[in-house]
Formats: sequence, C-alpha cells, structure tokens
Amino acid sequence: MTHELKNFIAGRWVASDSVFEKRSPFDGSLVAHVHEASRDMVSEAVERGRDVSIGTAAQTWGNLPQKRRLAIIHDFAAKLMERVDDLVEAEVADTGRSYWQARNFDGARAAGLFKAYADLAAGLETRSKPFDTPGGQALWYTARRPKGVIACICPWNMPLLMACMKVAPALAMGNAAILKPSEETPSSATILAEVVASSDIPDGAFSLIHGFGSGSAGGFLTAHQDVDAITFTGESGTGSAIMKVAADGLRDVSLELGGKNAAIVFGDAVMDRVAEGVQRSAFFNCGQICFCTERAYVHRSRFDEFVDRMAGVARGIVVGQKDQNGFSMGPLISQTHREKVVGLLDTVKPDGGEFVSGGGVPQFGDERDNGAFVEPSIAIGLSEDARFVREEAFGPVMHVAPFDDEAEVISLANNTRYGLATSIWTESLNRAHRVAPQIRVGHAWINSWQMRDLLSPLAGVGISGVGDQGGQRSLEFCSQPQTITTRIFGDDP
Ligand code: NAD
Repeated sequence: MTHELKNFIAGRWVASDSVFEKRSPFDGSLVAHVHEASRDMVSEAVERGRDVSIGTAAQTWGNLPQKRRLAIIHDFAAKLMERVDDLVEAEVADTGRSYWQARNFDGARAAGLFKAYADLAAGLETRSKPFDTPGGQALWYTARRPKGVIACICPWNMPLLMACMKVAPALAMGNAAILKPSEETPSSATILAEVVASSDIPDGAFSLIHGFGSGSAGGFLTAHQDVDAITFTGESGTGSAIMKVAADGLRDVSLELGGKNAAIVFGDAVMDRVAEGVQRSAFFNCGQICFCTERAYVHRSRFDEFVDRMAGVARGIVVGQKDQNGFSMGPLISQTHREKVVGLLDTVKPDGGEFVSGGGVPQFGDERDNGAFVEPSIAIGLSEDARFVREEAFGPVMHVAPFDDEAEVISLANNTRYGLATSIWTESLNRAHRVAPQIRVGHAWINSWQMRDLLSPLAGVGISGVGDQGGQRSLEFCSQPQTITTRIFGDDP
C-alpha cells in the first residue's frame, strides 16, 4: 500500500502542492508520496513552537511543572510502544533492512528512549553554593530553562533511533522539537507524529516537516532565526554548512558527523572473536552505521590469516533476505548512494589495490535488481593516500593493511581528519588501555564493537562532530543554564 505522508504542524496534518516519491531500496517499489514542507509551513512550526516553549503559551509546555510534563511524556512513550510493530514495518519499508534487524535494533529500543530521557530529566541535579560577599552572605544556584525551539535534523541510516535520540531530550526539557527526517526515510517519523497527535503533548511542542536540505525544509528550518538550537546528524560537509547558517544569530549547534573508522588487530588477538566483531563492524546495516569499520590494520604476523578469514566471512553473507531470522545484509539506502559507493569501489584497482571479496553489485535475476544492493567488499594493497582509504564510503567496504608495531598503528589509525570510533582487538589489558586513549576518536571499543548504552556520551573529534550528545549531555544541550544569586541578610527588618 502506498502511504500519503503529510507534515504535522502545530497539531494539524498539512498537505503540500509539492509531493515527492519515496521508493524502496529493496526492489524500487513505491513506498510513499511525501508532502514537502514549504517555507511558510516551516515558519508556522517554528513560531508555534516558540510560543509553547518560551513564549506566551509557555504555561502549556515549557513552564509546565516538570512532574506534569514528564508524566505526559511517559504516557506518550507508552502509546508509542503500542505502535512498535508499525514502526518496524515503516523502517523495513524505508530502508530495506530485515525484520530481524528492525525488531532488535530499532523498534522498541528507539521508542524506549522517551521513557529513559523523562526519567533522566527527573533526576537531573543542579548546582548551588553559599559564598561570602563584602556585605555578608549570599547563595547561588543554577536552574535549567528550556532553550526554545530545537531543530532535530536526522539522517536515513537509523531513522527512528536518531529521531528519538533528538526529540526525547528536547521535549523532556520543555522545548519544542521540530523533526526533519531524511527525505529517504519519512515513514517512522510520521508514525511518531501520529502518536503525538493522540497524546497530551500540546499543539506546537512537536512538529514534523518533510523535505530535503538546502532550498527545502532543512534549509528553511536552520535559517529561521527563532530556531534556538540545531541538533544534526549527517555528513560532515552538511554539518559544516549548517554551522555556517547557525552563525547567523549565534545559535547553538550539536553535530554528529561522519567517520573513517579503524579496527586495530594486534598479534595476540583471538581470531574467532575478531572475525565475528570486525565483520559486524564492517557489514552490519550494509555498512551504514557511522561507527562502521572501513579501515582495518592487522599485525603483520596475523595479516594473511585475517584476510582469509574475513574474505570467507564476506563471501558467506546472505544478501537481500528481508525475512531472514538473523544476520543478512540489506541494500544501501538508494541508487544514488550506491553510485557513490560503487564510485569508490571503482578506484581500488586503478589505485593499485585488489579485492579479496566483492567489489561490485550482485545480480539476483528478480525485482531486487531494481534495488540498491552492493557486495560486501574487502580490498588490500592500497597506499594510505588512496581515496578508498581516506574517504567515507558509508557502505559495506573495508581496506585491510598490515602494521609492525604499536606506535606505527596508532599513527596509521590517526591519519585521518575524521575521529569518530575505533575498535581495538588484543588480549593484553595493558596494551588495550595504553592504546585506546591515544586514538583520537569519540568512542573506542576494546574487543567489541558498538556495544553502546544509548545514554552514554558521544563526541566526535575533528570533522566527526562538534559538541557531545547522549544522556545527561543531551539534556544539557537542550536547556539553558541560568545562575540565580540571592543575598542572605544577617537580620530581618
Ligand atoms: P546528509 O548530511 O546528507 O543529510 C542528513 C539530513 O540533513 C537529512 O535530513 C537532509 O535532508 C538534511 N540536510 C541536508 N543538507 C542540509 C542543509 N544544507 N541544511 C539543512 N538540512 C540539510 O546525511 P545522510 O546521507 O542522511 O547520512 C549519512 C551520514 O550521516 C554519514 O556521513 C554518516 O557517517 C553520518 N552519521 C553520523 C552519525 C554520528 O553519530 N556521528 C550517526 C549516523 C550517521
């Protein structure tokens, strides 16, 4: 069934004259007609958002007693949980991933963030201190006020999870959240809006706008001067463009951006664990997770063994099974993205490398040939300045290179302007904890990959991000600290 996805602005479903198609990356079939928000629609969402967060109607949301606001979010979270099957269906339709993946990594895990952030906000402590002044005594304490309107701009790789990670802390702190999902993944965000419509969250505290970036909903939103802060996840280039726009009006940004992450495999690593962990880190979600490994550095003594193991694993991966109960690899998000990934694969041989697995596009002989599949691809033999080793592909691709000693591999892993994540594989506790802090990344995993408490902080280094997010840090980003000082007189008049 083809859905009609409208904007949800200040409590109303709003259609647009401009409608675009969302097609399935699994088989090219039509998933939805999506209504692109106009500049006026975005302005209405922002203005109504300001009103209920820090404006004349703030008593309905931003100034509501915290206990009442968090109770409303808890009710909303319970209603969202009732729609988990629909959310899973929406993620599968938009991204082409398997039901197994959408059930285990998206659905309830993402929806659960609303309850988690409401609980965290309830326990958020502020600071206070009595101090002496020339005239006597005084006391200061800090309060946290809503910032106002928070623009939540999301990528397509984990659409529901990213949306919840941004909207939940924004609402918990009394802001208005305006969600702009990727044009590639509009469906689960629309279900989120349906649940808001059936909840006690007041009109304007949450709006959903569909569309593209520059010259469309994303561009209109970031440029609006009544947007008080922007939380963005996406490509580094887009993050940089958004930061420039936010400079106008000196508005706050939190940017979670791309990566070119390295796995480091030392000579003493247990190969069974490495093979399982690194193949997941390279190929999970078709390599479309910002933490995915695209470079592996392996101690020369284990290089051939690692390459053989990984090539075997990659060749054994089932591609294109939506209903498989376990790991199978889905498509990339779109034909356009596949062109980018294949463009990088095509540089490998001319640049002097070779593929030990994959390197191209699979042929199925059925409707999946209209999708956006690519083979899990492992290359070796490239120099460090090759495009395949330097540029983020955001696909199921990895280059493997040997190293001889610890200092060399630290320098190789850090030889990038990105700095998002790494995974270090060794049985030596000392080496693991000696090396991890020397890799300039926001998250280092030891003998694991993407074991992540969603409330833990994440801060990308270099072109991988600005500011940090996760748990308390997200609540702090979504609120304005205010210091209140009172004098304490020695006597009463
Ligand atoms: P993207 O930058 O193309 O788009 C992200 C979002 O921004 C979309 O909603 C898009 O419509 C919007 N957008 C694009 N241009 C805009 C503009 N000028 N103004 C306002 N909005 C604009 O990214 P993508 O292709 O959707 O996602 C893939 C990227 O996201 C990869 O680089 C990946 O590494 C990164 N990512 C990072 C993290 C992290 O936590 N660091 C997590 C997931 C994805």
